Amino acid sequence: MNILMTGATGFIGRHLMQRLQLENHTIKALSRNGKRASQLLGVPAFDWDYATQDVPAEAMHDCQIIINLMGENLGDGRWTEARKHEIYASRILSTRKLIAVAPKNLQAFVCGSAIGIYPGVGDELYDESYTVPERLSFMQTLCHDWEQEAVRIEHSNVRRVSIRTGVVLGEGGMLKKLLPIFKLGLGGSVGDGRQWLPWIHIDDIVSVFCKAALDVRYQGPINAVSPSPVRYREFATALGKALRRPSYFPTPAFILKLVLGEAAALALNSYHITPRRLLEDYNFRFKFNNLTAALNDLFPATKS
Ligand code: NDP
Repeated sequence: MNILMTGATGFIGRHLMQRLQLENHTIKALSRNGKRASQLLGVPAFDWDYATQDVPAEAMHDCQIIINLMGENLGDGRWTEARKHEIYASRILSTRKLIAVAPKNLQAFVCGSAIGIYPGVGDELYDESYTVPERLSFMQTLCHDWEQEAVRIEHSNVRRVSIRTGVVLGEGGMLKKLLPIFKLGLGGSVGDGRQWLPWIHIDDIVSVFCKAALDVRYQGPINAVSPSPVRYREFATALGKALRRPSYFPTPAFILKLVLGEAAALALNSYHITPRRLLEDYNFRFKFNNLTAALNDLFPATKS
C-alpha cells in the first residue's frame, strides 16, 4: 500500500514506520523539516507547515492510506494560551487541510485521538459508546473536535478510524519523563494515586494502528488501551519494581498543579477505559495485557 504519514518522526510514528516498512509498504512522510525526517526515517519526506501552507501535492500523489499523528506535544510543560492554541491547531487545522486535498482513490484515513475524550474523573468504566456532553474540558474539546474533523472524510466514502490512544509505554511519552526521577529512587505515585491509568505497550499501539490502516473492518472510534488498567499507585509500584528502585515518594496534587497548571490533568485525571471494540468487534489479541510483563519487556534485568 502507498501510505502517507504525519507525525512519523514522533515516538509512536517511528515505531509504526518501522513495522510498516517491514511489511513492505511504500511510505512517504510530511514533516515540519522534511530533510531531517527523510534522513531519520529513510523514506521520502516533504516539508509542511500546516499553518501557512497547503499540503504538498507530491506527498498526496498515489496515496491510498493516510495515517495522521502530528500535533504539538501535550506533555511538554504548562498549557499557556499560546501552547493550547498550538496543541489544538496543529491537530484540527492540519487534519482539515489533509482531508481537503485527499486523493480520490484514498481507502482509509487513520487519525490520532486520545482517551482524553472521556471525562477523566472517578471509577466509572467507559467504552466507545460514551456520548460527549456539551460542556467539555480542554482535553475533551481537543479530542472531540479532532475526531469530528476526521469524520468529514467519510463524506467522500473513505473509511475513517480515530484511535483513542491511552498512555503509551515505551522509550518516549510519559515514561521518558518519569524514568530519570524513578532511576534516582525518587519516584512514586501522584496525587492520592487512586486515579486510573489506561496504559498500552508500544508494540500493541503499533499493531492497533497497522490493523486500523489495513483491515477494512476497522472503522470509527477505537479505544487503544490494554484490557488491564491499573490505578496510578499500582503503576508507580510496578515501575519501581521493574527498575529495581524504591517508589515511595508521592508527588502531592497541589505541587503538580503549581508546576504544571492545567496540564497537571495529564497525571491527575482518572481514566478507567476499556478497549471494548478491539476485544469484541475485532478479536484483537494484545501482546501485553499485564503491566508487569509490559514493564519487564521494556526494562529487562540486564539493562538496569
Ligand atoms: P510525538 O510528540 O512524539 O510526535 C508528534 C509529531 O508531530 C512530531 O514528531 C512532529 O513531527 C509533529 N509535531 C510536533 N509538534 C508540532 C507542531 N507544533 N506542529 C506540527 N507538527 C508538530 O507524539 P507521539 O508519537 O507520542 O503521539 C502521536 C499522536 O498520538 C499525538 O498526536 C499524540 O497527541 C497522540 N497520543 C499520544 C499518546 C502517547 O502516550 N504517546 C497518548 C495519547 C495520544 P515533525 O517534527 O516531523 O514535524
